[in-house]
Amino acid sequence: MRKKWWWGIAALVALGLFVSYTRWGQELEFLAGGALVNAGYRLQDRLSAYDFAHEEATPEQVYEEFLHQNHLSAAVRNIFPRTVRHPVVALVACMDARLDTNEIAGDTRHYYYVLRLAGSVMSPKEEEMLELAVDHGVKVVVFTTHSDCAAEKTAADPAGRARFPNLVKAVDERAMRFQEFLHRPLIRERTGQGKLLVKWLDLDTETERAEPHRERASR
Ligand SMILES: [Zn+2]
Repeated sequence: MRKKWWWGIAALVALGLFVSYTRWGQELEFLAGGALVNAGYRLQDRLSAYDFAHEEATPEQVYEEFLHQNHLSAAVRNIFPRTVRHPVVALVACMDARLDTNEIAGDTRHYYYVLRLAGSVMSPKEEEMLELAVDHGVKVVVFTTHSDCAAEKTAADPAGRARFPNLVKAVDERAMRFQEFLHRPLIRERTGQGKLLVKWLDLDTETERAEPHRERASR
């Protein structure tokens, strides 16, 4: 009986060492973490009333619930702080609520700078911010656009063009701004030296799967 007990302890220690010190073990732990995060998403996803009390909450009720959830979350973070990382990826994504950058990256660790912009349109200040991120060690800039984008649809609709001229102008400039970023001296130097990759990817809004960007015929 006593021997069996020792075998159990030895197996647990071996598992601990495997998870802590081998690549396979760490990948397994990362996958297990992802599975648990998804289990959490599933638990919350089907709850439709924002504050669980009203089908149609008022702005005050929404705000109250928002603050309550923030304080709950902050209290948990206070007990279990997150590890500070040097981001290696800068991710540019539209502000569409269906896009979740943790899901796009498949990673909850803080290895990502995230720029959320209407229609993923950069202006010179965002280009400078991205360059600053590159200066701070970012190795890959992932610029994304996505299917069923409200900003793109507004730009394609005459009534939308009349009503939101600034948004439309920005969407029309998107490809030019991307090229402008690529041609900034530091960005050109880093990409030329193989120290930086800049990629434009298209996201499927439903699955968040990324594919290399292709110009669409409609625009
Ligand atoms: Zn969008």
